[in-house]
Amino acid sequence: MKLGVSSCLIGTKCRYDGVGASDKFIVDILQKYFDTVPYCPETIIWGSPREAIRQIQDENGQLKVVTSTKNPKDVTKELEDISIECANKIKDNDICGFILKSASPTCGMERVKVYKPFNSPSVKNGVGLFAKQIKEKYPYLPVEEEGRLIDPWLRENFLMQIFAYQHFHEFLKSNPSFSDLVIFHTSYKYLIYAKAQKSYNSLGKIVANHDKKQLGEVLEEYKEEFLKAIALKGSVSKTYNVLLHIFGYFKKLITKEEKDIILASLEEYKEKIIPLIAVMKLINLYVNRFDVQYLKVQKFLNPYPSELALRSDIKAYK
Ligand code: SF4
Repeated sequence: MKLGVSSCLIGTKCRYDGVGASDKFIVDILQKYFDTVPYCPETIIWGSPREAIRQIQDENGQLKVVTSTKNPKDVTKELEDISIECANKIKDNDICGFILKSASPTCGMERVKVYKPFNSPSVKNGVGLFAKQIKEKYPYLPVEEEGRLIDPWLRENFLMQIFAYQHFHEFLKSNPSFSDLVIFHTSYKYLIYAKAQKSYNSLGKIVANHDKKQLGEVLEEYKEEFLKAIALKGSVSKTYNVLLHIFGYFKKLITKEEKDIILASLEEYKEKIIPLIAVMKLINLYVNRFDVQYLKVQKFLNPYPSELALRSDIKAYK
């Protein structure tokens, strides 16, 4: 799997000051699972080291990128052109997600500092030029900043989204039939329920295809809705409801004591006393004991390699 990254995040010495900005999570963990594909628009134009640049709003309210020098040079056009060129390459590289460097006037996804005219205080509401191109060209591509991924909740949601995104594109490449689509759709039932049950129902209508549309058209419609659905963030309460649904598959097959233990664990998860992984271990025990095929294929039970341990953190659910 290929993951696009701002080049400095994997330690490339491409920043304006000639150093990198290596990110531990990407380098120590994600690089075990993904081939990182580095992009650095600035270094393609100016090399490294180089003059620092910044976003400004000029006297006419126009946003520009200029060098942070005594006589600032307007580099907006140059940077825009290279950002478009780099963003165009993303599709060619078959990327399933992107991690951008926060706060950069080129790569920052949000809250980039914008300097105001007339000595007014700067504001943090800019978007990097390259980040803007990525968001515009690939609205459903999973994109995050390394700074935001410190938050276990955003991290878990992002990784879940990347793996689902990749899975869906592999599925499309396999020339699926209508019945393959039903199987795919069913396997995402609880993962999408944990984000928005409404989205799963809308996807279900597309799969049901009451208007007897051609397969290609159905897949296109499904793709858009599916990618929107996996971009939504999960919550403790929705996840708790999913766990209750799953529990319903075997609750009549177990003893009262066993039921009480599971229900107590679900409550502890809801109260953020134990992490999701603790409940999942318990649930998986019964799914396997009773060989519940419908659940065994659910992506919710195994959305990404367990070694990533994203469900081990209580803070991964809000
Ligand atoms: S933030 Fe983006 S443009 Fe700046 S050094 Fe890193 S990769 Fe290059």
